[in-house]
Amino acid sequence: MGYELVIGLETHVELSTESKLFCSCGGHSSANEPNDCVCPACSGMPGMLPVVNRHAIELAVKAGLMLNCKINQYTTFDKKSYYYPDLPAAYQTTQWFHPICVEGLVDVEVAGETRQIGIKQIHVEEDAGKLVHTNDSSLVDYNRTSVPLIEIVTKPDFRSSAEVISYLKALKSKLQFAGISECEEGAMRCDINISVRPEGSEVLGVRTEIKNMSSLTSIEEAINKEAIRHIDAIERRTEILVQETRRWDDVKKRTFPMRNKETAADYRYFPDPNVMPVVIDDEWLAEIKADMPATVSEQIEKYMSLGLSEKEANAAAAEANLSAILDGVIAKGIEAKTAAGWLLTDGLGILKKNNIQPKDLVLDTDKFAWIINAANKGEITRNAGKTVLTAVILENVDPESYCKENNLTAQNDIELVKSVVAKAIENNPKAIEDYKAGKEKAILAVFGAAMRELRGTASPDLINKLLKEMIS
Ligand SMILES: [Zn+2]
Repeated sequence: MGYELVIGLETHVELSTESKLFCSCGGHSSANEPNDCVCPACSGMPGMLPVVNRHAIELAVKAGLMLNCKINQYTTFDKKSYYYPDLPAAYQTTQWFHPICVEGLVDVEVAGETRQIGIKQIHVEEDAGKLVHTNDSSLVDYNRTSVPLIEIVTKPDFRSSAEVISYLKALKSKLQFAGISECEEGAMRCDINISVRPEGSEVLGVRTEIKNMSSLTSIEEAINKEAIRHIDAIERRTEILVQETRRWDDVKKRTFPMRNKETAADYRYFPDPNVMPVVIDDEWLAEIKADMPATVSEQIEKYMSLGLSEKEANAAAAEANLSAILDGVIAKGIEAKTAAGWLLTDGLGILKKNNIQPKDLVLDTDKFAWIINAANKGEITRNAGKTVLTAVILENVDPESYCKENNLTAQNDIELVKSVVAKAIENNPKAIEDYKAGKEKAILAVFGAAMRELRGTASPDLINKLLKEMIS
C-alpha cells in the first residue's frame, strides 16, 4: 500500500530590527558579553510596561504581503504561560487571538511542477533567552530574550520533504530580499508537524512534531526518517504512535521523544493587558506597501525587458545586493546588458577569486559606472577595466587616479604600440616562422608578449591588426 506524507511547518524567523520587541535594548547580535543587552523590561522585572516596536510590526506586515496574506489591521498580543529558566517573565508575549497576517498562499516548485501551500497565519512574538550548560552549573543569558520573531505557520499542505526544502529556500530568499530578516545561521528555525496516511485517505494519521530544526540537510533527513518510522509503526506494528514532540539527533540520524505534545489549553493563552492593541490604519498600510521591493520575479521580468538573457536576469535578481548594484549603475545611464556583463562576468569572477560572497560585495555605483564608461569610450581596455574593478572592490580606490598612477590608461599612441609589436615579432622568430607555415595559433605567443609589454593598456584589436600587417 502506498502512503502519503502530510506535513505542516512552523518557521520562526528573527526580524532585522535595531532593538528588541518591547524595549530599546539592542538585539543579541550587538552583544559582546552574556547579559549585555538587558533591561528591566526584557528581564521580566515587575512593573515594567512594554512598548511595541513599530519596525517589527512593519516587517511582519511585509512578510505577510510577500506571502499573499490578508493583513489584520487590528492585531493584539497575548500571554503564553509556561516556565523555563530562559524565560524570565514566565510567559512569552505572542499573538494568539488576532495574529497580524492570515490566509496566505505561496507556490513551491519541485521538478518543474508547481503546487500551492497555504499559509495559516503569521504572528509576531518574542524570543526566549539562552541557557549555557557547564560541567557543574547552568548559566542563563538574556541577550536574546524578547528579540522580535515572526512565526510563519503553514497549512498541512506539503506532501514531501522536497516540497518543504523548496519552500524554505524560497522563503529565505524572499525574506532576505525584502530586508525582513537576514536569515543567518540559526536565525530561521522550524518545527515540523508530520503524519502519514494511506494514499487516497482523507483522515489524518497520528501527528508528531519535530522541534527546532535549522539546517536544510537535517530537515530533509528528519522528515524522511520520521515518515519511515510512522509507516513501520502502521504496517509492521513496531511501536504505537502517539501525538508527541520529538527531537532530531543528527548523529544517530533518528528522532527521539521529548515530551507529550502540549495542547493550547496547557499554555493558558489570554490577552496581555500590558500591550495595547496595534491598529494598522490604511495610511500606514499604504506606506508599508510602497516600501516593498520589487519581487524577484518582477526584477527578472524587468531585466529581460532591458535586454538581459534569462540566465543573466536570474543571476542578477536572485541576490538582492547584486540586483541593487545593477539597478544603481543602470540608473546612472549605463546600458543594462553592458552593466550585467561587467557585474556578472568580471565582478563575480573577482569575488570568487577572493572568496567574497555576492551578498557581501560593497561596490560604489559611481565608481563602477566610471569604469564601464571609460572602457566604452576606449579610454581603458577591458583588461585594464578588470584590474581597476578589482582594486575598487578590494580597496575601494578611486578608479580615475588609480588608472593614472598605474599607467592603465589606454595606449592611443600608435607609434609606441607599433614599436612594441615590432619588438615582439623580433623576439619570437620561431613563433613567426610557425605562423607563416600555417600554424595560426603560434601568433598568440607574439600577441601575448606585446600585450604584456603594454600591460594590457592597448586594445587587443589594435595589437592584432598591427601584428598581421607587420608580419605580412
Ligand atoms: Zn530590554
